Amino acid sequence: MKVTVIGANSAFSVGEYKDAVPVKKLAELIPEVSKRMKNAGAKPDEINQYLESFIEEHTEKLYSSAWQSNFLIEFDQRNIRGDDSPFRLVLDFGSDVRHALVRTGLDFKDIDAYYVSHPHDDHIGGVEGIALKTFFNPYFTKKKIAWLDGENIIDKITYKAARGQLYKVPKEAKPLMLGHRDILEALWQSAKPGLLTLQQVREVTLNTYFDTKEMVENEPLILKDGKRTWNAYIVLSMHVVSGDSTMPSYGLIFESDETIVFFPTDTQFMVPPQLRGHYMKSDHIFHDTETSPFPSGVHTRLEELRTLPADLKKKMILYHYDATLPPNVEKGEFRDIARAGSTYEF
Ligand SMILES: [Zn+2]
Repeated sequence: MKVTVIGANSAFSVGEYKDAVPVKKLAELIPEVSKRMKNAGAKPDEINQYLESFIEEHTEKLYSSAWQSNFLIEFDQRNIRGDDSPFRLVLDFGSDVRHALVRTGLDFKDIDAYYVSHPHDDHIGGVEGIALKTFFNPYFTKKKIAWLDGENIIDKITYKAARGQLYKVPKEAKPLMLGHRDILEALWQSAKPGLLTLQQVREVTLNTYFDTKEMVENEPLILKDGKRTWNAYIVLSMHVVSGDSTMPSYGLIFESDETIVFFPTDTQFMVPPQLRGHYMKSDHIFHDTETSPFPSGVHTRLEELRTLPADLKKKMILYHYDATLPPNVEKGEFRDIARAGSTYEF
């Protein structure tokens, strides 16, 4: 399996404008300007001085993004869409997921499955876009093209409904939506107002848009990657404990004969304490890391992770940190600090 970190930052990171000179502009203009000045008899000092002002003049404010923490996980097995590309699972889909995905060269049309850990904006904010863009994409899967047979999807399902026939979108025409039952329900409650606006279509549910699958403890989602088989299980983490309620986040642990990769997702430090057992058995752990000087109380703080034994820390790839404050740790203390675009093969 190949993991691409499509975003590595905390919920409120949005990026910033930075001074930059487009490389192309430099490559084109600097040799030309230098040559012209040299030919006119200018001294090296004079040329350098001129180039400094030249660079300043061509400096632009370029947007440097800081995407929310979401992952793309690819498996070398048959996909749902019906082409030769890998099976692609997106783990959480925050409100900026479409831009973050485009940065990796992909779009919702290239994604087979989504997994939702918990219903916060940086994990589910993209759902309305995903649902509508795939629903109205007549080419999403090969089977969808055949099922639609040239008709518009709304005509297709309302025409059939009017005659009391089966009008549901077949599962082969939709992406998978995976998660714990409670989280899928919360996802629907959050997305419902937008997703109910399909004109003329009755009984719209999350199933209209997705092939939803409730994941249950000890029942794995089985994924193949070439010869290797991965069993993915949900794991409970405790994210928010407020005055009168709690919000768990369900992480995913991928287990194969040789390697175990764990994504606890958003979690307080060692809550529940059973997380330690999962950390011990895992070989690689992508870990929530809060670096903001204003503790939220709902994430694991870098200082807390630093108290762990060295062997556990060496398995951890840190992410979900404040965009302006990457984890300040000694080289080798943790396995890695993930950045948008980082990839890992297991
Ligand atoms: Zn959260």
